[in-house]
Amino acid sequence: MKRKKNIGIVSHDNRKSDMIEWVSWNWKELIPHSLICTGTTGTLVEETIIQKCKDNDEVPPSITKLKSGPLGGDQQLGALIAEGEVDMLIFFWDPMQPQPHDVDVKALLRISVLYNIPTASNRSTADFLISSVLFHDEYIPVLKDYSAYITREVNL
Ligand code: PGA
Repeated sequence: MKRKKNIGIVSHDNRKSDMIEWVSWNWKELIPHSLICTGTTGTLVEETIIQKCKDNDEVPPSITKLKSGPLGGDQQLGALIAEGEVDMLIFFWDPMQPQPHDVDVKALLRISVLYNIPTASNRSTADFLISSVLFHDEYIPVLKDYSAYITREVNL
């Protein structure tokens, strides 16, 4: 991943206030990067960052808003990770409430592990990620060799 990163941002409804607080606190660190968010999270992140940028005379970052999570946004983000288009995931999921799209949530978390992208599920991990020296540098995540899965013979 390059110095300028594509950062996936998702938060469940009960975690949105945490996410907005985190984004407000870290907006300066985030603006050199591109943000890719699920729909509702993206609207809130955009409002927050645009306001911060206006107040401080800074240029806002590119913010892509995918579909809302329950409508397929998590799957869209997962597909972008599989395509190598997302370098990092900040995903504040709700540990206290089942979601209608639980299977998509699990799939997104799985794909972030599969492609070895740094993933934060809570604020302290997000704080550690954003303050890491690697956050400001180039970094190549090591990928496990899964080629055997692609070439294995299927006995019908
Ligand atoms: P939202 O989706 O940002 O559209 O609320 C998040 C999610 O539920 O995965």
